[in-house]
Amino acid sequence: MEWETVIGLEIHAQLATKSKIFSAASTAYGAEPNTQACAVDLGLPGVLPVLNQKAVRMAVKFGLAIDAEIAPYSVFARKNYFYPDLPKGYQISQFELPIVGLGHLDIEVDGEEKRIGVTRAHLEEDAGKSLHEDFHGLTGIDLNRAGTPLLEIVSEPDMRSAKEAVAYMRKLHELVRYLEICDGNMQEGSFRCDANVSVRPKGQAEFGTRAEIKNINSFKFVEKAINHEIERQIDVIEGGGQVVQETRLYDANKDETRSMRSKEEANDYRYFPDPDLLPVHIEDALKQEIQATLPELPAAKKQRFINDYQLDNEAANTLTSSRELADYFESVVKQSGCETKMCANWVTGDLLGALNKAALEITQSPIENERLAGLLTRIADNTISGKIAKQVFEEMWKGEQSADEIIESKGLKQITDSGAIEAIIDTIIANNPNQVEQYLGGKDKVFGFFVGQVMKETQGKANPGEVNKMLKAKLKR
Ligand code: ADP
Ligand code: MG
Repeated sequence: MEWETVIGLEIHAQLATKSKIFSAASTAYGAEPNTQACAVDLGLPGVLPVLNQKAVRMAVKFGLAIDAEIAPYSVFARKNYFYPDLPKGYQISQFELPIVGLGHLDIEVDGEEKRIGVTRAHLEEDAGKSLHEDFHGLTGIDLNRAGTPLLEIVSEPDMRSAKEAVAYMRKLHELVRYLEICDGNMQEGSFRCDANVSVRPKGQAEFGTRAEIKNINSFKFVEKAINHEIERQIDVIEGGGQVVQETRLYDANKDETRSMRSKEEANDYRYFPDPDLLPVHIEDALKQEIQATLPELPAAKKQRFINDYQLDNEAANTLTSSRELADYFESVVKQSGCETKMCANWVTGDLLGALNKAALEITQSPIENERLAGLLTRIADNTISGKIAKQVFEEMWKGEQSADEIIESKGLKQITDSGAIEAIIDTIIANNPNQVEQYLGGKDKVFGFFVGQVMKETQGKANPGEVNKMLKAKLKR
């Protein structure tokens, strides 16, 4: 039997506000446990939540960026449940009237574009954290995270493979960072994903029963967890069983999912409008004001890079994967005045390669854009060859010197004096009569030997084009 996979993602993005969604407590990550949860976050008697306007603006900004309907009227609701990291006994969320309605996001998998629907995005507060590692036989509770603003972004069940799910998650991650509404730090849990997965016989119209996998906090694990879950469900069905609707936990260490609880229904939560909070009205004027703050979005930037810089799809994708990288590339182009493809090659190849190896972000690059531009200028004006440039690049990576300083102090300037190159060529020809004879006798490969000798003699500093031309002239058959 051939199976088709159906996936819908729920992504929680922590909004990058300084204070919490309903209180003035700090959202900064990494403080001593339980030092950043105030009476409002804990829901102590006698306190009232006050909505953080910045969080609302960020949600609207997101909605506008995915072409979604922004609800003119939305409502906060209490979602009631007990858990040790939620001492209030309810989470303030949105249920029937979320702030962001239907929108969409385009992804690309294996060169094919696909549109993924975004059902809704709503504002809610995060819960605290349960800590198990340092507490043998006990659970520690850190409530610092309680009340941190979250935007929960719910997709339509539009994805058909783990690869598509990862592509969607990456696009969303890229977008929230472009919009500067979320820092996207997945280790710190600022961007987390729950994956709903089901399978159905290919061709069947109805969806199969889904399981929801929680606790996935990296792109790699999303792909692994989903693929694992697909196999599990197919095994269950082919073994004569039925998939049960449940919440499963992904264990990255064991690379498996295991059942956490049977799936709760919305009515289990006893949702009701939060009597402490007023409904949110979004006027057109506010929408327009926020619309005006939208940056150039990734898709538009990518198209501009293809049109204006003649980049191919892959290079444009890579270079627009973050605003910082795109800015870096553009300033290298501007400052070096070099051919855009050469700039793109150096940034996506040498620079990103070195950054990846060192596990650094573009913003942490030891080579600033001015210095890389300086290097490329010297290749373009023939001061150094591309090969020597790699050597200069390595030196620049290690220190603070400019390309010019390195070229000067190491004597790496290309030999442009054709008299000097000619003298070297003459000596090499005189010293290698056998090879000369072979070449003249028709053995083309020997030509490379001569080029190699000249490069060796000049320590790579002779202009390769020039060397070729001269050798051809001297070894005329
Ligand atoms: P809940 O809030 O109870 O988790 P929702 O109806 O809001 O349920 O759906 C959550 C997510 O599950 C959405 O992203 C949706 O696209 C996805 N989904 C719904 N049905 C299926 C299915 N049969 N297979 C895979 N994903 C599904
Ligand atoms: Mg869910």
